Amino acid sequence: MLWSNFFITTSKETPKDATAASHRLMLRTGMVRQLSAGAYSYLPLGFRSLRKVEKIVREEMNRAGAIELMMPVLHPIDLWHETGRVEAMGDVLLRLGGPEGDWRTQTVLGPTHEEVITEIARAYLNSYKQLPVSMYQIQVKFRGEARPKSGVLRTREFLMKDAYSFHDTVESLDAVYQKMYDAYCRIFARCGLPYVAVEAESGPIGGDASHEFMVLTDAGEDVVALTDNQDYAANTERAVCAPLPQDDAAMADIAEIETPNQRTIDEVCAFLKSEPRQMIKTLVYTLAYGTDKKRATKTVVALVRGDHEVNENKLDRAAIALLAKTLGDETSSPKPQAPSLDLADEATIKALTGADVGFAGPHSLTGDYLLVVDQAVSVMRNGVTGANKTGYHVQNLNPGRDFAIEGETVSVADIRNVTDGDQSPKGSGAAIRLRKSIEVGHVFKLGTKYSESMKATYLDKNGKAKPLIMGCYGIGLNRIMASAIEAHHDDGGIIWPMSIAPFQVLILALDPKEEDVMNTARALHDELEAAGIDVLLDDRDERAGFKFKDADLIGIPVRVTIGRKGLADGVVELKRRAGDEIDKIAPGTAAARVKEMVKGELQRLDAGK
Ligand code: ATP
Ligand code: MG
Repeated sequence: MLWSNFFITTSKETPKDATAASHRLMLRTGMVRQLSAGAYSYLPLGFRSLRKVEKIVREEMNRAGAIELMMPVLHPIDLWHETGRVEAMGDVLLRLGGPEGDWRTQTVLGPTHEEVITEIARAYLNSYKQLPVSMYQIQVKFRGEARPKSGVLRTREFLMKDAYSFHDTVESLDAVYQKMYDAYCRIFARCGLPYVAVEAESGPIGGDASHEFMVLTDAGEDVVALTDNQDYAANTERAVCAPLPQDDAAMADIAEIETPNQRTIDEVCAFLKSEPRQMIKTLVYTLAYGTDKKRATKTVVALVRGDHEVNENKLDRAAIALLAKTLGDETSSPKPQAPSLDLADEATIKALTGADVGFAGPHSLTGDYLLVVDQAVSVMRNGVTGANKTGYHVQNLNPGRDFAIEGETVSVADIRNVTDGDQSPKGSGAAIRLRKSIEVGHVFKLGTKYSESMKATYLDKNGKAKPLIMGCYGIGLNRIMASAIEAHHDDGGIIWPMSIAPFQVLILALDPKEEDVMNTARALHDELEAAGIDVLLDDRDERAGFKFKDADLIGIPVRVTIGRKGLADGVVELKRRAGDEIDKIAPGTAAARVKEMVKGELQRLDAGK
């Protein structure tokens, strides 16, 4: 391909709002162009990379035994009502507008395809003899992301590979999940991504177990917890906290102390000259549950140490488990279903504590409530917390003595976010480090969540109808591209991994008006192209410095520079984008050397090195 025949729109300007390197570089290289918030065009250079990512993903899915299909973007909203996900997805699920009763108001744009694939499975997968089966598609997804961010890392329209598997046994699901997990490792390795697989929260997709594949970089919005000895890796949304040991200080007498207008942890600490880790944060929530017709609420009080943050996923689970225990099995009592936990309003807090917001403590509450105590609070001694009296706190509050940590309506659980420096929950003593990261892929064991709600059953060996057991597996193709740039760039521009570079080789003709130069450049170009190598020949009549800057910016992995002076000395220059060394070689040997470099590099990536 000749540069002059292609469409490349490099620019020196660094867009002001682009903080992520990938965002900046994708705009500066003209790989993408923003059309509106969260919607991007892939210009020819960017599209070539995206197609290469797609090819790798497709090859690995096929290798893992998944079969390709294609499902529609337009979904009838009724399908989403079957699984209750119209509510669970909220504003992420984009609806078409139109007059009432119009088909448009009954249609949504697919953010993911569990419902659609389950509808297909319900129609065709009727016997255990057809199982297991895995299917995938590579298709545009739409999500009403509130804050599109960092270029193509978070958009409202993006390309996802989504795969779904169906099984008659948990063992079969486990085996395919492992196959997909391995396929993901190969995909990311082949794309040149330094990734880690971490335990993950399932979120509104639901299910029993899941892993996310993360690229560690400050441009990411996720935070993962990793240990130095690699015995534990999890998203902080889910990371388990190792239990802390009991503080064995002597219990002092509880004392009320006036703290006028001191409400926040920092204010109270400064006022009392204590540390946040001595404080007990008392948070009041309202837990709603039950069916749409019969909804009930319960007040939940959660305690975490002053230097810790509540993890709402964990608190959710602990609160629901405690609620289920208190409700008992009587058929007349509401079930703890469709729970939603929100911070309580002022009136609820006032009724419970008898004080203004900011002065709550667990020791003298009135009314009906559930108490969930973080494990780290349960081992504290002589804590400081609100006095349930406006303008007052108490010191020397002791769990077990001043408030219950056992009983029907109390539970001690891990409900906090892991913090940097915590110990590994595996008991190795290794320290946890928190790292920002980008989620590029996610695999889930769904179990029967969708097949049960959509009544997708098969007949087992004994002719008995059973819900299909499912797995699902997603990868963001645009995010792979952007994360590769995050991981591989320098001040000059992108340093593409060979496998997903828009072109593998750049021939830079320094004096394109010289016949000798262009003849040599064209001959090399044609020979490489004939060997199946993606080669771009910069034939523009521009200054050398300008062309070198563009070459560094667009980041083609191998560069061959051909100029009049070099040819007079009988050499062309060979350089890797990733290094500084320049190799002067005879023009006749260039094609063989370049082929070897491309092949070697692809093999290295294939081998996951
Ligand atoms: P996030 O937590 O970042 O919003 P998610 O957990 O909702 O992502 P999944 O439903 O697991 O995402 O989707 C599968 C994959 O699709 C993700 O791993 C990610 O690579 C990609 N993806 C998800 N949302 C977006 C988006 N808004 N823009 C680009 N890619 C996305
Ligand atoms: Mg996810």
